[in-house]
Parts: sequence; structure tokens; C-alpha cells
Amino acid sequence: MTKAPESLEALKERILACRLCVESPRGAALPHAPRPVFQVSETARVLIAGQAPGTRVHASGRPFTDPSGVRLRSWLNMTEEVFYDASRVAIVPMGFCFPGQNERGADLPPRPECAPRWRAQLLAALKNVRLLLAVGQYAIRWHVPAALRGRSLTETVGNWRDIARATTPMVVPLPHPSWRNNAWLKKNPWFEAEVLPFVRERIAEVLERR
Ligand code: SF4
Repeated sequence: MTKAPESLEALKERILACRLCVESPRGAALPHAPRPVFQVSETARVLIAGQAPGTRVHASGRPFTDPSGVRLRSWLNMTEEVFYDASRVAIVPMGFCFPGQNERGADLPPRPECAPRWRAQLLAALKNVRLLLAVGQYAIRWHVPAALRGRSLTETVGNWRDIARATTPMVVPLPHPSWRNNAWLKKNPWFEAEVLPFVRERIAEVLERR
């Protein structure tokens, strides 16, 4: 007898119970108990592929409850009500748990165990996604085809038209909204002038066409 496919709810439960980075880590174990943070539903049409929780998100258990989230919502022209409505917007970081910080107090990269373990099956269950926003270099590396990636974040984000045209669901690469990218944003005004209006229009279109 063939096994029935796992429901999204069952998959969510398994992810929430995951202890991979504590029990079988690649390298150093996660320095705290896992607390996976993500938001999904089968009906979501916009998918925000982020990086990994920071300290505030680790404490709140809700994605983007930090200054990066404030900037991201303003980039996308999204109210908190829409942003946190799982029936419309999925938020799936490259690493679900806060990875800890280095000796200089900077957040570590997303745990390398997480995406290979969970990402493909979770994304496969999100069948209604029409627009995928790849936020930051880790999500870009996973979601933007290698042939369309440039040698730098600037080149790749600059390729946004070709990337959007060539992908289904449509992928648009964005820099991470962290304050660490303030200098990049200042140096690349075309991002706010050209990419964001396109993204806002696409969001309105895919969320309205329900
Ligand atoms: S980061 Fe991902 S793989 Fe690691 S414990 Fe959390 S959910 Fe599991």
C-alpha cells in the first residue's frame, strides 16, 4: 500500500520538535535549545525566504519582530496584519533556529543542517506560492538559479528582471533589510527606485487574485 503524503500540519509538528543541531550537529552544537521560527499555510501566495532568527525573534518566537522586520514591511508596503497572516504570507528562513553569535556579537550564519533537512519538503507543501522573495545572500544562493547569480549581491540583485522572468514561482532577490546594509542601500538607489515598486505591485497582484 502506498503511504499517504504527510500533511503540512504533521510536517510543521516534526519541524517544531527538531533537535538536529543539538543532537547531530555539523561542527559545534547549537548553544541553546532549538526554537524553530517560521510561518506557513497551504494557501499562502507570497513566500518570504529569510535568513535565520536573531535574538529578538528567538525571544518572541515570531518572524521579523525586529528592526529588520520593520524595514522589510516598509519595503513591501505590508501592514503587520497582512505580513503575519499565514493564509496569505509564508515566512521560511534558511535556518529555523537562532544560530547564536560570534565573539564580536554578530549573528552566526543560518545553521547549515537546516535547509538540507527541511527546506525541499516544506516548500513542496506550499503549493500556492506565486511570488518568492529571496532575502539576503543565503536565501539567494538557494533560490536563484546559479546561471542567474552574479559575482556579488549587487550584481545578483541587479539581475532581478531576468531572475523574475526566468523563475516559477517568480523569485525576486532582495538584500537583507538589516542596518548592516545601510551603506549598500545608499550606494544602490536603483534598488528602492526600481525593484521595490515592482515587488509591491506583484504582491498586490498575487494577494488580490485569490
Ligand atoms: S536550525 Fe533547523 S535543523 Fe537545526 S535544530 Fe533548528 S529546526 Fe532543526
